[in-house]
Amino acid sequence: MVKDYDILIVGGGMVGASLARAISGHGLRIGVVEAYAYHSDEQPSYDDRVLALSWGTHLILQSMGLWDGLAADAEPILDVHISDRGHFGFTRLNHQEEGVGALGYVVTARALGDALLNGLDELADIDLLCPATLDSLKLNESAVEVNLHTDGGRRAVSAKLLVAADGGDSQVRSLLCMPVKEKTYGQTAIIANVTAEQAHNGVAYERFTDTGPLALLPMTGGRSSLVWTTSDDQAPELMALDAAAFLARVQDRFGYRMGRLLKVGKRIAYPLRMRQAKEQVRPHVVLIGNASHTVHPVTGQGFNLGIRDVAVLADVLIDVASAQGDPGELANLQRYAEWRKQDQYRVVMITDTLARLFANPLTPLRMARNLGLLGLDMSPGLKHLVARQFMGLNGRLPRLARGVSIV
Ligand SMILES: Cc1cc2nc3c(=O)[nH]c(=O)nc-3n(C[C@H](O)[C@H](O)[C@H](O)COP(=O)(O)OP(=O)(O)OC[C@H]3O[C@@H](n4cnc5c(N)ncnc54)[C@H](O)[C@@H]3O)c2cc1C
Repeated sequence: MVKDYDILIVGGGMVGASLARAISGHGLRIGVVEAYAYHSDEQPSYDDRVLALSWGTHLILQSMGLWDGLAADAEPILDVHISDRGHFGFTRLNHQEEGVGALGYVVTARALGDALLNGLDELADIDLLCPATLDSLKLNESAVEVNLHTDGGRRAVSAKLLVAADGGDSQVRSLLCMPVKEKTYGQTAIIANVTAEQAHNGVAYERFTDTGPLALLPMTGGRSSLVWTTSDDQAPELMALDAAAFLARVQDRFGYRMGRLLKVGKRIAYPLRMRQAKEQVRPHVVLIGNASHTVHPVTGQGFNLGIRDVAVLADVLIDVASAQGDPGELANLQRYAEWRKQDQYRVVMITDTLARLFANPLTPLRMARNLGLLGLDMSPGLKHLVARQFMGLNGRLPRLARGVSIV
């Protein structure tokens, strides 16, 4: 039986749209199912959050031919300062010491969305099935069969491989009863744009405080993006403060490294949790991005991890396509999962540990983490290793992450 698609991607957010673009042009028939209309302002993946993209993510986007469309909206991160409020621990990462043009870049999710979506509807090998959601799905020996709810009624489609990129609450994962490890932190991230008296000079600040980490990331236009992780109990009070009172609280936590904080924009709150799928592949199905692993935003790793899933899956799928193989065959998907295992494990472990360790006021832990920061600062070899992990340059890299386009 002829399948409608070789690859059906469920979820046209940052990760799903990235995959569609990465595998386009290689003879695969691709469908993208997205709950929101194409380029809708309401699509939650492309909201007002600000993302720190690692140097490695920038290389992947560049290899995909997307960086030029994003560069004007991207502010380079030249230095990262990490400190523990009220304690001695401190370390600093610098782009020149790491031998890269920037440690990363800061963009808005909206600008990333524009770069990913512009022209996606004109690619001949991609069908955008949106707005649409899943009604049911069935795996059989040679394919996956999906029933969709669309504006025009129900529609049945089949594919050799279904890629679940439908976010942390993945419906695909639930429909297939794929088990997931889940943890709540009792923490909420509040994000807002902030203008300070002094220029940010390309410095990203990560400051650990007794209620959780606070990051100020350099943005275009001289602004900085605040990501303040606080307890679920405290978040409603902070969200209700007027602008001046809120800025005073941020200033108290952050200090005066950038002088006085002058202005704050709209605040948005995100309750935080960690989710990790215990099973990522089945015959004809693979989970990627947040559907596979949702991590705490401390150190801004979520999308960076997701696009590395994309780069590896694209590598595997394009090789399978050129060998006329079956993209849904379990052996191919296991090759992908095996390749991704270490990087995913490391990022989940590091973000989870940092989120818990630096929110804990117990004195021995506080001492330990400050000694850790100091030790890191005094050990160039270790610091370089940590920097390479955060830049997305550790381990065996797929072609897109090495700056090589896949032909
Ligand atoms: C406060 C905060 C700050 C962050 N900062 C950073 C950062 O600095 N750097 C970084 O790398 N990451 C960061 N992240 C993480 C990043 O936002 C996520 O990793 C990223 O959004 C994951 O993308 P995704 O496409 O996998 O999932 P999502 O963004 O959740 O997208 C899922 C898509 O699937 C669609 N969908 C859902 N269900 C269905 C369905 N049943 N049918 C069809 N479509 C469906 C949705 O409409 C959506 O478009 C941050 C996250 C938060 C909360």
